[in-house]
Amino acid sequence: MKPVIAIVGRPNVGKSTLFNRLTKSRDAIVADFAGLTRDRHYGNGRQGRYEYIVIDTGGFEPDASDGIYREMARQTQQAVAEADVVIFVVDARAGVCAQDQDIANYLRRSGRPCVLVANKAEGMLEGAQPAQFYELGLGTVYPVSASHGQGVRDLVEVALDPL
Ligand code: GDP
Ligand code: MG
Repeated sequence: MKPVIAIVGRPNVGKSTLFNRLTKSRDAIVADFAGLTRDRHYGNGRQGRYEYIVIDTGGFEPDASDGIYREMARQTQQAVAEADVVIFVVDARAGVCAQDQDIANYLRRSGRPCVLVANKAEGMLEGAQPAQFYELGLGTVYPVSASHGQGVRDLVEVALDPL
C-alpha cells in the first residue's frame, strides 16, 4: 500500500500548487480565487524512492447549504482520517492567522503525524526561518516554495521517511 499524504490548510496558501508539484500534474485547479478547487482531489506521486498518494483539500460545492467553512472543515477532517501523514500548509508571507490556529488545534487533537510547511518562502529558504509558526505547536516549520519547486523534495522525505 502506498502511503497517503493529505494536504490541508486555509484557502489560498498554495495547497493545490503543492499538490501539482507532488504529483507533477495540472489536475488540481490553481487559482487566485480562494477555494476554487471543487472537491477533494486524489493523485499519484513519485519522488526518488518514494511513491505515494496525495489528497488535495479546500474545495467546496458552490451551493453547499452548510456554508463554505463548514464544508472546508468537513473535507479537512475526511482527508486527515484517510491520511498516513498530513502536510499542513501555512503562508510564510502572511504569517499566522486564526484559521491556521484552528486547523493546528484540530490536527494536534487528531494525533495524525503532521508536517508543518510554510509555503511561498522563495527567497526566504536560507537564513530567516518563519519562527512565528512555532506558536502553532506542531514543531519544526519547513519552508518551501511550491510554485518555484523549492524544498519540495526534502519535504517528501521528511513526511514519508518516518512511516
Ligand atoms: P490553495 O487555495 O491553498 O489550493 O492555493 P493555490 O494553490 O490555489 O494557490 C493560491 C495562490 O498562491 C495562487 O495565486 C498561487 O499561484 C500562489 N502560490 C502558490 N504557491 C506559491 C509559492 O510558493 N510562492 C508564491 N509566491 N505564490 C504561490
Ligand atoms: Mg486549492
